[in-house]
Amino acid sequence: MTEQTRFDLPQSRLPEAWYNIQADLPRPLPPVLHPGTHQPVGPDDLAPLFAMALIMQEVSQEKYIEIPEEVRDIYRLWRPTPLLRARRLEKALDTPAHIYYKYEGVSPSGSHKLNTATPQAWYNKQEGVTGLTTETGAGQWGTALAIACDFFGMECEVYMVKVSYQQKPYRRSIMQTFGANVYASPSERTQAGRSILAAHPDSTGSLGIAISEAVEAAVTSGGKYKYALGSVLNHVLMHQTVIGQEALEQMELAGEYPDIVIGCVGGGSNFGGIALPFIEQNLKGGKNTRIIAVEPAACPSLTRGIYAYDFGDAVGMAPMVKMYTLGKDYVPPPLHAGGLRYHGMASVICELYDQKLIEARAVQQTDTFKAGLQFARAEGIVPAPDPTHAIATAIQEALRCKETGEKKVILFNLCGHGHFDMSAYDAFLSGKLEDYEYPQEEIERAQAALPQI
Ligand SMILES: *Cc1c(COP(=O)(O)O)cnc(C)c1O
Repeated sequence: MTEQTRFDLPQSRLPEAWYNIQADLPRPLPPVLHPGTHQPVGPDDLAPLFAMALIMQEVSQEKYIEIPEEVRDIYRLWRPTPLLRARRLEKALDTPAHIYYKYEGVSPSGSHKLNTATPQAWYNKQEGVTGLTTETGAGQWGTALAIACDFFGMECEVYMVKVSYQQKPYRRSIMQTFGANVYASPSERTQAGRSILAAHPDSTGSLGIAISEAVEAAVTSGGKYKYALGSVLNHVLMHQTVIGQEALEQMELAGEYPDIVIGCVGGGSNFGGIALPFIEQNLKGGKNTRIIAVEPAACPSLTRGIYAYDFGDAVGMAPMVKMYTLGKDYVPPPLHAGGLRYHGMASVICELYDQKLIEARAVQQTDTFKAGLQFARAEGIVPAPDPTHAIATAIQEALRCKETGEKKVILFNLCGHGHFDMSAYDAFLSGKLEDYEYPQEEIERAQAALPQI
């Protein structure tokens, strides 16, 4: 019998709708608050930032939202993405577990981010917006948005965290290849950037600061530009559910159903993408899959953060969201190479965690890169640093099966390849990376600085 390794869906099986978990949550999401008035924000408050169609998706209680045909046309450039069984990794681990991964690295941008960049650009274009502003850390989101804007003939302005801008010149080049304007953040272009530079002239930037700059650039453009966020928001997680919907069907092709689904979490979008359709099966379909979110020990929002209202950005311009947070002033340690650096977490993921419908774990970076190398050498794909967190956990669970003799089925999301992240692998291979335990004093300081609601 031939051992099937890859489970492909035909293009005709591309999902027709996104899945909106808000329709199925046991209790509704906490409201998003205005940063000035502390009152729940309405559509009009968000209108300077986002296209109205996306604002409506943000609060929609409809279970399925139809994917526009033009967006599906673009999805078909790389979707459905493959599901693979990691047979060679299973052998290397000598585990009875079956390990599957959904591979989003086949998208033109090399990660899952284009799944939401494409509809975000499309909806804005429909409403007459000429360009989008955004922030990017490692560069994956900026790349995806640059490509999506280019697809629809829109302009793209990217505020890139300064340390990444300096360390990842090719990331900047690829965004420029698609016509984006890229600025190192904090920059002199915005009030937010100038105020940070005045206080900290040597600031290497953070995602929170870059968000403040991108938001300001959009709201001061007189409606010409709007802002796009690559993670965290409900509509972003919803756009990513094409991943899990496909994976459900592909697991059926493989004749198995996962006992464990694993994803890495930064803001929660790729994890939500793979996990939410399986959580629906837990809530409504009588399944009992363990769902595990994995984060870096250096940025432990879920496992050590506080569940409270906090600002989405560093300056306090963005709406306030109830989330597990390390505080808006969080800055990652300089030797952190594994991505997933956002101080907060998607509201949907926080509620699921608070309601104990998912688990969370934090992993040290030397363990994640070790796992990434082991995966690469078995399966031939260099993973982005972020999904090595999911891989490390999948390996842990597979090794546990080896001890107990259980034949569990494990599925994880390989949300991107690491071809633009070789400097991170270089740091690991040359022994420069160290483990880092996020200090308890920092958590207490963040707690004291939370806005009083
Ligand atoms: C952006 C990104 C992440 C982190 O963001 P999430 O919203 O948590 O998915 C993880 N992996 C890759 C490859 C990314 O591009």
